[in-house]
Amino acid sequence: ASLYRIDGWGAPYFTANSSGNISVRPHGSDTLPHQDIDLLKVVKNATDSIPSGGLGLQFPLIVRFPDVLKNRLECLQSAFDLAVKSQGYGSHYQGVYPVKCNQDRFIVEDIVKFGSPFRFGLEAGSKPEILLAMSCLCKGNPDAFLVCNGFKDGEYVSLALLGRKLAFNTMIVLEQEHELDLVIDLSQKMNVRPVIGLRAKLRTKQTNHYGSYSGEKGKFGLTSAQIVHVVTKLSEFGMLDCLELLHFHIGSMIPSTSLLSDGVSEATQLYCELVRLGAHMKVIDVGGGLGIDYDGSKSGEADQSVTYTLEEYAEAVVSSIRYVCDQRSVKHPVICSESGRAIVSHHSVLIFEAASAVKPVAHQPKPDDIQFLLEGEEDLYAAVMRGDQEMSLLYVEQLKHRCVEGFRNGVLSIEQLVSVDGLCEWVLKAIGGSDPVQTYNMNLSIFTSTPDHWGMGQLFPIVPIHRLDQKPGARGILSDLTCDSDGKIVKFIGGESSLPLHEKESNGRYLLGLFLGGSYEESMGGGHNLFGGPSVVRVSQSEGPHGFVVTRAVPGQSTSDVLRAVQHEPELMLQTLKHREEEVMHTKGGDQEEDDENEYKNVAACLDRSFLNMPYLATEEG
Ligand code: PLP
Repeated sequence: ASLYRIDGWGAPYFTANSSGNISVRPHGSDTLPHQDIDLLKVVKNATDSIPSGGLGLQFPLIVRFPDVLKNRLECLQSAFDLAVKSQGYGSHYQGVYPVKCNQDRFIVEDIVKFGSPFRFGLEAGSKPEILLAMSCLCKGNPDAFLVCNGFKDGEYVSLALLGRKLAFNTMIVLEQEHELDLVIDLSQKMNVRPVIGLRAKLRTKQTNHYGSYSGEKGKFGLTSAQIVHVVTKLSEFGMLDCLELLHFHIGSMIPSTSLLSDGVSEATQLYCELVRLGAHMKVIDVGGGLGIDYDGSKSGEADQSVTYTLEEYAEAVVSSIRYVCDQRSVKHPVICSESGRAIVSHHSVLIFEAASAVKPVAHQPKPDDIQFLLEGEEDLYAAVMRGDQEMSLLYVEQLKHRCVEGFRNGVLSIEQLVSVDGLCEWVLKAIGGSDPVQTYNMNLSIFTSTPDHWGMGQLFPIVPIHRLDQKPGARGILSDLTCDSDGKIVKFIGGESSLPLHEKESNGRYLLGLFLGGSYEESMGGGHNLFGGPSVVRVSQSEGPHGFVVTRAVPGQSTSDVLRAVQHEPELMLQTLKHREEEVMHTKGGDQEEDDENEYKNVAACLDRSFLNMPYLATEEG
């Protein structure tokens, strides 16, 4: 187990048991009555054929542990509760889960259920995400926040305003200045008092991959000048009391608490400025970025590891806010965070099988060819004889380079080229430098199952889920079964270029697990932020007035389509939300909106439209 640093990245959930299998401790501790779960047994049960008592599922397989999710959520909450208590902080922590990290219906429902005792809410970044968040929050705590981030068009804003009509604690966070005009206009038409937040572009910037979109020139948020404009405009419209929240996000995988404290302090100063300017501020939302230790090193290496614990993260956030607010005599705000990776990464494991392993084959060179090859290679021969690894490697590389050149020029035959490879292998063996790395062919697509690895080089712990009591006899790289040449994993945690693996037994299965991939991997491989696939048209030339004709048009996915893809049931959601409207009306004791025909005020019509429309932002308003 130490070979794979399981205790480093896996504690307290994953470890190796005495049978050499990965053992899962979903509650994060070994206190009875919870027994550890043997992952191999779970996988066997899921994949064995139905006649032999299994579920007959195929690889790759995602195994989810909802109790891990519960534990992560509770640990995050108690870390903040502890910091609030120990520092005498004058308010509380109330987090939200950014559903983009994994929109799977059962995950979101679980988070709402497990987080209900402490008002845990959701963050949405697109129209389908708001819909799914509202439908899941129907069963949640009524005070839970529904933070609406992301670029917004009229439809998006109407949906977020509709949320308030349906008695959700919806906050519309402005990412761009012009969104304010939509909010002012639509809230008047829909007769809703909005709760508004601002996303600030901070000057604090993190330097890892995930921080490249933060800072003054970042993609999202309002500059200081834009914040002042927004305040002025809200004041002109008599709506400054609607501004309650300040949000920022300095990037995922924040490497250290010192950088975090810089960001939080800068944002808290902004918060205090907004209070000074007359806004009725109540909440500071510190965004996501709480990192996890993918390589188990606690080194803080960019994108792979962080140097702090959950408790230290919470401590840094609470103390920075408290310090600035106390200095400026501002009431302590409610602290919200949007941790995604830290909540969902651990709870699922991607299991795949080595379909085959391919060893590099060293051909025995023929004596005649060696003769021919070694002519004039006295230096190489001498270096090998005296066991000089460095020089032998250098000479053999040079020889190989020359021979490949010779083949290109037609001087060497294919047989001679084969002998060159054989000779190189012979030299490597002779100097003890031979490290034949096998290629393990895995039955999955790296592009769809680990898009962050494929696109950004994110490393995930990958470990055999059994045979951990046997010393691995080989090293391997992983290759998927797609025909993409980059469908390979050749870099592993700790910077290794191959993974210690067991020889594949001819008749046995060899199963590996990719851990900590519960956030982003599924949602990116599917539909990021639930922006569905593109629409497609086929176009041919024609003699008509346009010079072309569209011969086939296939629409992209509607909001309902993309929701279905992550297990939600749009028809049911629609019913639930309509039912909620009736309930809200009933509790208020009021009549239906008197102007039911008005398209802005008719809740049911607005909901119907939302489910049918495309999830992309509309190009024109509406
Ligand atoms: N909030 C916002 C606005 C984000 O852009 C992101 C992701 O980048 C998150 C929250 C979640 O971040 P993390 O998964 O690092 O906690």
